[in-house]
Amino acid sequence: MKNRLRILFLSSEVAPFAKTGGLGDVSSALPKALYEMGHDIRVMMPKYGTISERKYVLREVIRLKKIPVKMGGAEHATCAKSAFIPDSKVQVYFLDYKPFFERPGLYIDPKTGQDFPDNAERFLLFCRAVFETVRLLHWEPQVIHCNDWQTALIPWLLKYELKTDGFFQKTTTLLSIHNMAYQGAFEQASVSNLGLPVDIFNKNNDMEAYGKTNFLKAGILNADMLTTVSPRYAQEIQNDPKMGAGLENVLKKRSKDLYGILNGVDYSIWDPGVDDLIENKYDVSDVTGKKENKKTLSEKCGFTFDESIPIVGIVSRLVEQKGFDLVISALPQMISMGMQIVILGMGDEKYHEGFTKLAKKYPKNLAVFLKFDETLAHLIEAGSDMFLMPSLFEPCGLNQMYSLRYGTVPIVRNVGGLADTIIDYDTDTGKGNGFVFTDSDDRTLLETFKRAMEVYRDQGSWLKLLKRGMKADFSWKSTAEKFVKLYSKLEKKK
Ligand code: ADP
Repeated sequence: MKNRLRILFLSSEVAPFAKTGGLGDVSSALPKALYEMGHDIRVMMPKYGTISERKYVLREVIRLKKIPVKMGGAEHATCAKSAFIPDSKVQVYFLDYKPFFERPGLYIDPKTGQDFPDNAERFLLFCRAVFETVRLLHWEPQVIHCNDWQTALIPWLLKYELKTDGFFQKTTTLLSIHNMAYQGAFEQASVSNLGLPVDIFNKNNDMEAYGKTNFLKAGILNADMLTTVSPRYAQEIQNDPKMGAGLENVLKKRSKDLYGILNGVDYSIWDPGVDDLIENKYDVSDVTGKKENKKTLSEKCGFTFDESIPIVGIVSRLVEQKGFDLVISALPQMISMGMQIVILGMGDEKYHEGFTKLAKKYPKNLAVFLKFDETLAHLIEAGSDMFLMPSLFEPCGLNQMYSLRYGTVPIVRNVGGLADTIIDYDTDTGKGNGFVFTDSDDRTLLETFKRAMEVYRDQGSWLKLLKRGMKADFSWKSTAEKFVKLYSKLEKKK
């Protein structure tokens, strides 16, 4: 291969090892696609307590048995193990440091429901360990592809601490932003003993924002290139202060280096034709299996199975961003319109309580599962008729693209990646692949459902609509090619 690139992909989540949301899916699918293209791509993530060494066959790496990492006057004795992303040859290094990562949660302590108080220290250590790891491997990456705040200090460290280090002379950085709402912003007290220079607390320092130490800001200002997960979101985060979450002006400074690249779908995992997590496989040529999955889902939810009643699915982190205040307020009316609704999610207590209360009130029409369950997520995609994503903002969103492939018609708000992927159905022309609404209020949502229900009752039109969705192609190949173009551009810059 002419231009085989050495790419180090860093992420705090990689499916199936550890996942809380879309980042996990992306961090496994994109490296796999890059490997298929012939690149030397390696992934690195923390070894959390939730990752089973036996299940994923983690092996010791002789060179990585001892990785001493200095931080704030202390030296931490870390090591790394390795495994392959299942069904692939992509190598993943797991940074093993039990005092920081051998815990039941990734970022949040399940006991308190709050962020771990030492998250800054944990992920700074991870970043520092990354450099030591590649040094010990004698493997000098041409590009370090960072993702989100957890790895956003890499470009900053390269620039300020490793500038004169010969080993990294040719290393460039790309930072992908998956959600501006999570910035790794810490009170000064939690970073003051980490050996970072004191001027990081000065106003307008690369790492300072609103009186806090902001890892994402440091990444945005120092990465050689930036991407975010959809073209629409790339615009929104620069132009809408709500979306930019206080860093819109910082992003604007980097406008010419910021690209919006839509995430893809890993169709080896998310396709009803090959999905091993569902009982009845089906594809666009014959969707009868979908009805069987609907029966299974209906049973699981305690609903009465009735083909004329649509099941509306939701699989999501239960946080404000996803528009759940609207769902809670509109649910009783949605139910009276004749729908069955299934919700799978975990997140804020207020939504746990709100949905639990409603499920008790409407047991025949609403089923709520407050847990993380990959198998149920697949069954909901396969067994539902409609999929609801009323997000206030949505950087990309994956479930609407999964839904299309499963013949489950997405009903989405007109923001971010949802706007980039779902086209509102037009009854006159029969064009579109879902239902899109803009105003985030009960009336608009219910009117949208009314439109969807009308089409649903006309099974001929509905079948055409869902089959059009099933034919759409959001595979990673073209997305990965876009990344390679950016990596090559970076390489030329050096
Ligand atoms: P975000 O990254 O904001 O959470 P995305 O739509 O990009 O949203 O990705 C969400 C991913 O997480 C999807 O793969 C979805 O199926 C999965 N997911 C979210 N919550 C759960 C859950 N409770 N159980 C199983 N999968 C979940």
